[in-house]
Amino acid sequence: MSKAPGIDVKKMKKTLVAWRKELLTLIDSGEETKTDTELDQQRIGRLSRMGAMQQQAMEDETGRRREKELQRISTALNRIESDDYGYCTASDEPIAVKRLENDPATPLCITCAQKAD
Ligand SMILES: [Zn+2]
Repeated sequence: MSKAPGIDVKKMKKTLVAWRKELLTLIDSGEETKTDTELDQQRIGRLSRMGAMQQQAMEDETGRRREKELQRISTALNRIESDDYGYCTASDEPIAVKRLENDPATPLCITCAQKAD
């Protein structure tokens, strides 16, 4: 499949690679924060069990969201490599350039994204 018209694939790739790097850094630092929190709790002993559980749940949720983003980014990068980037994975229609600039990792055109909702 040829490259979608009007899309600066090189720029998109750069954005996606930078985004992935940022996420990986965040995931790494997130794990360190968790360890720090545990140490603080032992030291202070004041954080309620409920508060600690809520915080843990929030960190888990953030982690899951980041893993999902990473997955989306990797898939988008694969599509760039195979020259499928810029086309909807569901309908093969070109994805609007504005939509890609807004979310470079999106695999769906606006029509399919609305159906998915
Ligand atoms: Zn579509």
